[in-house]
Amino acid sequence: MTALHESLAEHHIELAERYAAHNYHPLPVVVSAADGAWVTDVDGRRYLDCLAGYSALNFGHRHPKILAAAHSQLDRLTLTSRAFHHDQFGPFMQELAALAAPALASDEVMVLPMNTGAEAVETGLKLARKWGYEVKGVPDGEATIIVMSGNFHGRTTTIVSFSDDPDARDSYGPYTPGFKIVPYGDSAALAAAMDATTVAVLIEPIQGEAGVLVPPAEYLADVRRLCSEHGALFIADEIQSGLGRTGRTFACEHFGVKPDLMLLGKALGGGVVPVSAVVGSPDVLGVVKPGQHGSTFGGNPLACAVGLSVVRLLADGTYQARARELGALMHGRLQSLVGRGLHGVRGVGLWAGIDIDPALGTGREVCAALAERGVLAKDTHGSTIRLAPPLVIEPADLDWAIDQLVAVLAR
Ligand SMILES: *Cc1c(COP(=O)(O)O)cnc(C)c1O
Repeated sequence: MTALHESLAEHHIELAERYAAHNYHPLPVVVSAADGAWVTDVDGRRYLDCLAGYSALNFGHRHPKILAAAHSQLDRLTLTSRAFHHDQFGPFMQELAALAAPALASDEVMVLPMNTGAEAVETGLKLARKWGYEVKGVPDGEATIIVMSGNFHGRTTTIVSFSDDPDARDSYGPYTPGFKIVPYGDSAALAAAMDATTVAVLIEPIQGEAGVLVPPAEYLADVRRLCSEHGALFIADEIQSGLGRTGRTFACEHFGVKPDLMLLGKALGGGVVPVSAVVGSPDVLGVVKPGQHGSTFGGNPLACAVGLSVVRLLADGTYQARARELGALMHGRLQSLVGRGLHGVRGVGLWAGIDIDPALGTGREVCAALAERGVLAKDTHGSTIRLAPPLVIEPADLDWAIDQLVAVLAR
């Protein structure tokens, strides 16, 4: 077997290291083409993608229906700005609202489209504050938003202000005030932190970057109840957990809770363009009037055409069912490795955080060894690896990927 660093791949890696900022530390794989769950590198080697762009590729690479929507839109209209209407906008807003409505607390649902996940989070925070002052009646400048330990919501200055990860936060101050961090999964701590200034609780229903952490069974119901009691908004960040990954359209559905706002991103862009959105009640989304919030690219025609095709893929539940079935296969096999190279396995649907026995190497070393065997995965923290293959993966391929993990753990 040839080393990963030879020839063309080595050349591209050298260019990246010389000319690009080192804000990432990629594995030494240089992808040049992809289809479904498989990618091909510049030297022709094939890899099974078990990260799926951190869930941005839930429907795999170049899904034919998403590509067809993108191609036909590219041939007609790509950008208008929101200064004008366009013909992809209304249908996308309508069908995304219909997809999200059963999972939300209000019957009526509106959508505010943005581009990246971080922008959807920022939009949710701005809506919560404005709603807090104008509807709830919090004195000006006193609104607080409660967030969770171990959270990951993106990389803007405000969002890193309430991160407790030193890598994400340190040296980026002065920080945005108005946030309180409580331990994830601790209902009593949340209850103690809430008061009349609390306008929202921002939470990932399952924490992705933290290592696919699933909260205790009753926790999100407690969050819902406390938000209702205190007149605060329950904001669920479903950017990584939503859109089929967990076997339901939204992760909150597993816990029987309906948030006031959901933040969507990643898979909403179909692996083609960044598309994000805030969905929720008109009482909240209605607080922004013309000129008070926006984005040049948010809701652009290409994004709307792609987003609409994604919403339609999710409408009949096929992908959600696939995530449940393949997830059962994956979790069944992973569970049997606990005590045989794995210390623990967590997750729901086709989404797992696995803790590698530290004696076998770091998460990164195990991911490098997996890449040598043709499987792409990514460590999160220390010895934890996240497995999130595209929902289109074939069962035999998923089995094969786990065979490679077994082989790496047995080294
Ligand atoms: C990825 C992610 C974000 C940020 O999305 P970007 O598109 O990278 O800005 C926010 N919240 C969660 C839960 C995420 O996983």
